[in-house]
Amino acid sequence: MGAGVETIWGSVLDLLKSRVAPEAFDAWLKPTTLVECTDGVVRVGVPNSFFCDWLQHHYLSDLLLALKEITGRSLRVEFVVTGQTVSEPPAKVPEQLASPIQTPPNRLRARYTFDTFIVGEGNRLACAAAKNVAQNLGRAYNPLFIYGGVGLGKTHLLQAIGNAALTIYPGLRFCYTPAEALFLELIQAIGKNTRVEFKNKYRGLDLLLLDDIHYLVGKESLQEEIFYTFNALQDAGSQVVFTSDRPPKDIPTLQERLISRLGSGLVVDIQPPDLETRVAILLQKAKLENFDLPEEIAVYIAARVRSNIRTLEATLVRLIALHSLTGRTLDTKLADEALKDLVLPEQPLDAQRIMNAVAEHFHVPVADIKSPIRTKRVALARQTAMYLLRHLLNLSLKDIGFLIGGKDHTTVMHALDKITELKNRDPAFASTLDKLCRELSR
Ligand code: ADP
Ligand code: MG
Repeated sequence: MGAGVETIWGSVLDLLKSRVAPEAFDAWLKPTTLVECTDGVVRVGVPNSFFCDWLQHHYLSDLLLALKEITGRSLRVEFVVTGQTVSEPPAKVPEQLASPIQTPPNRLRARYTFDTFIVGEGNRLACAAAKNVAQNLGRAYNPLFIYGGVGLGKTHLLQAIGNAALTIYPGLRFCYTPAEALFLELIQAIGKNTRVEFKNKYRGLDLLLLDDIHYLVGKESLQEEIFYTFNALQDAGSQVVFTSDRPPKDIPTLQERLISRLGSGLVVDIQPPDLETRVAILLQKAKLENFDLPEEIAVYIAARVRSNIRTLEATLVRLIALHSLTGRTLDTKLADEALKDLVLPEQPLDAQRIMNAVAEHFHVPVADIKSPIRTKRVALARQTAMYLLRHLLNLSLKDIGFLIGGKDHTTVMHALDKITELKNRDPAFASTLDKLCRELSR
């Protein structure tokens, strides 16, 4: 069985881990293996027949759904007793494990570390701040508030702080929790009259990692609780890190005093990654999965998935699945199939798009850019287009010359030098260039 198939199972388990109660996951799903996958049937190896029944009755639909999400195909599942894996079946089945409870994960994922976090322009500051906080708990920025769009690495960074801090400060009392889980916990505590325990649990921490706090919108009781908890933690010198999909001031219905509290430390944002970073993320992920991903396929995918790294990763997992399940050649056609339905059709980053963007920016027609016209504005637009073709698409000088109306490669070289020099000399031009790059690689 190829590394690809194991990868699929790893991804299925990863997905289920985030959906099933941790104890249930460890008891029932962790001991499974993937035996084979042929003709649309996935054979899942389990330790004994008890597992067969149990999984069949309690987890089949979750398994099917996860498989479909990962592979993009409707597969059938059969359980086979392989006996080899692990442990005893649980002697008795605790009541709360009987069904897949949808608890959000509150454990740190081992994979979410600084080592596996690829740094690019869009996340450099956030990552540096996060590292600093992990090394100097309570002393660097408190609170640290990280915000950014969906799938851009907020949870990864937040958990990386936890993972790093744990190695630096053994015995650390910490808690990672999505705001939604905290809210459910608070509701339960109110219902069971255990609010004091709830308070004590959070107020005795050295490090609180609170994910997705935009969830606080309209939840006055939770806002109140967080406000007091945060005050108590800060008084005690404990570190708090928040993430959100927007900055504190843009979270509607957040109480003023909470806004100023949240913004009182350091607020950093994560911007969508540029093409180079996206390619690096794909290549790293492929390497972690032991999958030999050709760079040109990575570039092909990265040019098409621009604004969500989770989608980028999902595309890769699907590509691995398609390749190993069907044995088809790893080419752009297969990549297209992996991309299908997963991403909204985003405009791929191609030479035409770059030229259009430059033409629009400099108010000159594309035809002029490609022409021999040498007025100042047209020449600058042409040189900028050449520069962007080089830096965003990594095209050869010869190809760039060809695309821009059959220019010589020395002309291209001269243009690249000129733009680099202008960029270094003129901050306004540098920021224009940066803006164009960002827009194009989004
Ligand atoms: P968010 O919480 O912002 O929605 P996540 O932290 O869940 O996003 O990230 C989505 C996926 O993308 C995760 O699997 C994460 O590991 C990966 N990811 C995001 N940013 C990076 C990065 N810079 N380097 C490597 N992987 C990343
Ligand atoms: Mg998240």
